Amino acid sequence: MKNIVVLGSTGSIGRSTLEVIRRLGQDYRVWGLAAKSSFEALAAQAREFQPRRLAIPDLEGRPRLLSHLNGLEVDLLCGDQALVTLAQEPQVDVVVNALVGGIGLQATLSALSAGKIVALANKESIVMAGKLVMETAAKHGGVLIPVDSEHSALHQCLRGENAHQVNRLILTASGGPFLRRDVASFSSITPQEALKHPNWSMGPKITIDSATMMNKGLEVIEAHYLFGIPAEKIKVIIHPQSVIHSLVEFIDGSFKAQLSLPDMRIPIQYALTYPDRLPGEYVETDLAQIGSLEFEAPDFHRFPCLVLAYKALQSGDGYPAVLSAANETAVQAFLDGRLSFNEISSLIEQTMDAYSSPTLYDSDAIYEADSWARQWCHDRIQN
Ligand code: MG
Repeated sequence: MKNIVVLGSTGSIGRSTLEVIRRLGQDYRVWGLAAKSSFEALAAQAREFQPRRLAIPDLEGRPRLLSHLNGLEVDLLCGDQALVTLAQEPQVDVVVNALVGGIGLQATLSALSAGKIVALANKESIVMAGKLVMETAAKHGGVLIPVDSEHSALHQCLRGENAHQVNRLILTASGGPFLRRDVASFSSITPQEALKHPNWSMGPKITIDSATMMNKGLEVIEAHYLFGIPAEKIKVIIHPQSVIHSLVEFIDGSFKAQLSLPDMRIPIQYALTYPDRLPGEYVETDLAQIGSLEFEAPDFHRFPCLVLAYKALQSGDGYPAVLSAANETAVQAFLDGRLSFNEISSLIEQTMDAYSSPTLYDSDAIYEADSWARQWCHDRIQN
């Protein structure tokens, strides 16, 4: 029996995770759920899955959540430390971190330092603090299993292989909704247009990140830390069908790839059942019907965020945290109608240019870099 905690249970990945658990049956039990704000949905999930504990980060949300729970008996953790506490509960085996943004870092670290298996969908935590996250896992026996489809693919391709025999990791990218759009019209892109992803149905932040291709940039950084492969050996290729989720090229010239129709329930189930594989009741991937798989090189002029991510990874120290925090702030401002689509990348670039990493870059410095970048961006947006 695996006891599972789902952080961010009402978001897109969280809901898919519960759908997978519902199918997996009695060996997989929802032990705890946490959500930031959608209390009505959280209460409905609690009624169905009967978890031992619920957690919400906002103390003031307690009465609202209680009213939705309508007398249902469940332990309630509220406040700043609620998610971190839930992620460390002794009975818990697997923590699914499906939180969005930098808020997920503390939970990732606390689960790993308690020796848990972390099914990681919150890529920001590894982008912000990759070295610290990997060191924490190694020191306390925590295990990271990526839920991001590309990294799940790489994880599957690398099983049983020797990392020294890897020549390149190749991350596939759909190219998002603006792969063919005239670059000259990018400044007039509306949030509604950017929120229409051709292949994947996801939450708003990651969908905008896919449209700017910052998502792929964050994934390059994520791959570097997860698999210990240097930046120059991690490549991105545009693959509009999103059927190949990523590839590994080995030093003998051989490739391994992982394929399926785009469906997040597959990498989620892989992370939950690892090291086993269990039957899934998902859509069949009919290659004959798909017909052809296409590839092209990414256009770095069209997608400057990709360049910025490589730059942040090469600069190291606080730069990935600054990149991620500036991106989060810029994306929110774009969604709120306060920044144009083009200004997302230019604001991130300006933030990185203005940043200087401290000489001693420790774990406190990560949070400092994060809050400095958010404040700097807010000030720029206001002016
Ligand atoms: Mg992905």
